[in-house]
Amino acid sequence: MYPNKLYIDGKWSTVEKTIDVINPATNEVIGNIPNAGAQEAKAAADAAHKAFKTWSKKTAKERSAILMKWHELIEKDTDNLAKIMTTEQGKPLAQAKGEIAYGNDYIAWFAAEGQRLYGETIPASHPNKRITVKRQPVGVVAAITPWNFPAAMITRKIAPALAAGCTIVVKPSEETPFTAFRLAELAEEAGVPNGVINVVTGDAAAIGDTWQKDGRIRKLTFTGSTAVGKHLMRGAADTVKKLSLELGGHAPFIVTENADIDAAVQGLATAKFSNAGQICICPNRIFVHENIAEEFIEKFVAKVKEIKVGNGLEKDTNVGPLINQKAVDKVIAQIKDATEKGAKVLVGGNAITDKGGSFMEPTVITNVTEDMKCMFEETFGPLAPIVTFKTAEEAVERANNSPYGLAGYVFTQDLKEATYISEELEYGIVGVNDGSPSTAQAPFGGFKESGLGREGSHYGIEDYLEVKYISTGL
Ligand code: ADP
Repeated sequence: MYPNKLYIDGKWSTVEKTIDVINPATNEVIGNIPNAGAQEAKAAADAAHKAFKTWSKKTAKERSAILMKWHELIEKDTDNLAKIMTTEQGKPLAQAKGEIAYGNDYIAWFAAEGQRLYGETIPASHPNKRITVKRQPVGVVAAITPWNFPAAMITRKIAPALAAGCTIVVKPSEETPFTAFRLAELAEEAGVPNGVINVVTGDAAAIGDTWQKDGRIRKLTFTGSTAVGKHLMRGAADTVKKLSLELGGHAPFIVTENADIDAAVQGLATAKFSNAGQICICPNRIFVHENIAEEFIEKFVAKVKEIKVGNGLEKDTNVGPLINQKAVDKVIAQIKDATEKGAKVLVGGNAITDKGGSFMEPTVITNVTEDMKCMFEETFGPLAPIVTFKTAEEAVERANNSPYGLAGYVFTQDLKEATYISEELEYGIVGVNDGSPSTAQAPFGGFKESGLGREGSHYGIEDYLEVKYISTGL
């Protein structure tokens, strides 16, 4: 089921050292992957560089046809891919299938968008000159991806790269590599030529450094922690690579006095507990107007009590395990810090230790103050801290008081309030009465320390292109 192989230049190869891959629902080893390093990273870059010469010369229509074949094969393989994903990552099977479909949307979107990379002619101020502007692929791309969305974070990068005419080297998370390798197998089957996609796993720092130093790699696209993103940003300076960074978040979720409370409760439950809260756009701070707080909290707590935590392969599971014990420990530490400072646990609050994996109870806390860690440190787990506010201005000011700026949410039925809050939030994505705004047609990305660039939509292909101005003298 799980090949212990790297994918470089269309060949599947091994290295001597391996890394164990663990199922977080059972803590069992489900397979091994190659523990590769600088040498394999360079071989992947060599292959991508060589393949760029021919892939970039194909017509957009040819590239689109191959991408759409890949899309078709992924769709057919959904059940298998979802099972692999749930086994290595933990999310419930229905959510894994949802991610495969969502990730696949990016392939279809960019297969089409790649055919619309229009240029421009600009009227010259000299009668004997003509100005033409063309878009060309930037060159070889390096992608480094995390474990929380093992398929979508990869397709969201590979699809625009390939559609633009770039080739790519990918390092998926060592925690969720098998979804990535299966996607590569399907790409090979779809007719993606050798070297156009290369997948390497192993020593993240060694692989990352090798690609950073390689001047042939013209763009780095990364999704992961802000700390690693900043490190990569510094490294990219040496060869002045284009950069796309999707980093951490600390999303505010604002519920105003006249909100549809049931809709807000549902929106929060979905946004907060999907993928066990391990999403960069997951609400981290919940601001509820003081006049409706009691009703909102009562309904939300009742909803949270219905959640079934368990192995994602079991049919009625709503929330799976966290990725590992370290992730559970982080949430527990935030809860301990909060309760020591006066917070009250309304539901949950503990790790679940009798299920064999790294499980955590969905948790709601109140009496929260802004000096508690959960109010400024990304949680990446199923903890919902609720605070109250009096005015929209106050809610916005407190919501913006963060170095992060990825996603923010507001639930309100007042048009003026919705407009004011959505315009004032310093966040790249705002959900107005919408707890799940992410989609292939729309730009995903953050303000401030949440990152650079956008993925998805027509903006999402820009970073894979250079603009070339041709001045023709007659
Ligand atoms: P997360 O907390 O989501 O795991 P990380 O930023 O640690 O976030 O990981 C995201 C990706 O970055 C993973 O593929 C990981 O292996 C990779 N990574 C971690 N450290 C480095 C590094 N020094 N250089 C390059 N990639 C790295």
